[in-house]
Amino acid sequence: MKKFTKTVENFNCAHCGAVVHGNGYTNHCPKCLWSRHVDNSPGDRASNCGGMMRPISIEKSGEGFIITHKCEICGKEKRQHASEKDDINTIIELSKKPDFIFGKKFVA
Ligand SMILES: [Zn+2]
Ligand SMILES: [Zn+2]
Repeated sequence: MKKFTKTVENFNCAHCGAVVHGNGYTNHCPKCLWSRHVDNSPGDRASNCGGMMRPISIEKSGEGFIITHKCEICGKEKRQHASEKDDINTIIELSKKPDFIFGKKFVA
């Protein structure tokens, strides 16, 4: 039996309803890339905000991508690495939006 010290959890995406198989590192949905505000620091699950976090920008980082999420309730922004399981088509679609490219901030 392997022991995991990281938090592994599955959840239903509250945005698109997809079942997300947590790997302990990412908590965003691989289909729509939305996240939830459950952490203060990555992985700590210490926030009780619980707001939906909209993916507002994406940038290239080394081999992968970093997605910036912004909480719809409190406005907190978090950056996290895109997972290899993330839907590349969603990343491409989002990256086509002029307000989504290379960290340019969404202005409502
Ligand atoms: Zn989703
Ligand atoms: Zn929040």
